[in-house]
Amino acid sequence: MLLFFKSSAIITTSPIFLSLSKITPPISLLHFSTMTSINLQSHCFAGNRIKAKIPKSNDLYSPNSALETLKSHLLGSTHDVLSPKFQVLPFRKGRPLTGFHGASQNWHLGWLSLGDCKGLLADSIVELKEESLVYLGSRSEEDSVYWAIDVSQDDTLVDELAKKFMSFVELRTLMVATDWSNSIAMADLAVAGHARALLEWHNISRFCGHCGSKTLPMEAGRRVQCTNELCNKRIYPRVDPVAIMLVIDRENERALLSRQSRYVPRMWSCLAGFIEPGESLEEAVRRETWEETGIEVGEVVYHSSQPWPVGPSSMPCQLMIGFFAFAKSLEINVDKTELEDARWHSKEEVKKALLVAEYEKAQKTAAAKVEQICKGIKASPNLSLDFNTESGELAPMFIPGPFAIAHHLISTWVFQGVPASASGGPHTHPSGSLSNL
Ligand SMILES: [Zn+2]
Repeated sequence: MLLFFKSSAIITTSPIFLSLSKITPPISLLHFSTMTSINLQSHCFAGNRIKAKIPKSNDLYSPNSALETLKSHLLGSTHDVLSPKFQVLPFRKGRPLTGFHGASQNWHLGWLSLGDCKGLLADSIVELKEESLVYLGSRSEEDSVYWAIDVSQDDTLVDELAKKFMSFVELRTLMVATDWSNSIAMADLAVAGHARALLEWHNISRFCGHCGSKTLPMEAGRRVQCTNELCNKRIYPRVDPVAIMLVIDRENERALLSRQSRYVPRMWSCLAGFIEPGESLEEAVRRETWEETGIEVGEVVYHSSQPWPVGPSSMPCQLMIGFFAFAKSLEINVDKTELEDARWHSKEEVKKALLVAEYEKAQKTAAAKVEQICKGIKASPNLSLDFNTESGELAPMFIPGPFAIAHHLISTWVFQGVPASASGGPHTHPSGSLSNL
């Protein structure tokens, strides 16, 4: 569903927000009017092309048909001429296999062909443990079906792959290292994010939550099912929605940014929190803001959403749902158990923390480190920390890079102002508002 469209910036979103699209004004994802213009087709981790259309069960590329063909190839000696090409992406402890293009100076996913799999993944596929194999999607125009496999138990694989200059790299590191103007790299990141989310979900879904029995993967890993015949529950991957909001003091042109103790020094970002049972999205925005900062919110306006597969492994399927939230009160009372600090920041102050050159430099630094890892040169175990520290040294404050929805909420406010339909003030209910729902 096309939600926002303005010149070169497009955001797609899920059907759940179809009704909101009628009342939300056009907002481009990112537009630096006086600086550098960066055009994103979608948020980082969104825009997954191979997942867009899952074929029906009678199709050669469908999950069940493709799994049967894959099994017969790996375990037998079938040479079916009608078989699509299989591409398999190994993961180890949540990290995708990654290689590095010398020419383009960027990373690529380490897809293995069926031939590679027979050689390199011999141990993993002797019994073809279906728990570790998931269907990711297909591209019939490329005659390909894509899979992810968890090879965390295979200790010999790392050395074998190192000979091919490939390594297992943290997804967060790849996220920082990705050139956001490179649509191919952004598409790869979306595929890797989906794959990681699914594999991690399988890791925490080994037992039925209803009766406690073991589960087994079904439909090529797209769901699991309880093995207790009396229960037989079908369990599907579901997302954990997180509301993320930029709270705005409209009258004084300020935004509320906060720090958590886990942030590196000088990094400030939006407030965020989980949606609780029994509340709407806009109620969650108001409750979280009140609990964490003591500020009352009136209007709540939807901006966009972003899959977030790089959170804690216990919550691999987070969806960040971004809002502008307009303050009705201004006095801050920080809940120190949740936040280290929260302050109002002027537009000028925030604009200085949005320097494109710094993000580009940080991206290149991270890309160089991915290259080192792929070539087997030891690097810092936490590259995202390096990125943030580096940016922090260059400015008195900084906000997360273009890979995060927080960046786009903040930059939209700085460079485009608040949505036009929300300009009626906190006590009115213009058509762009959710406050009267
Ligand atoms: Zn059960």
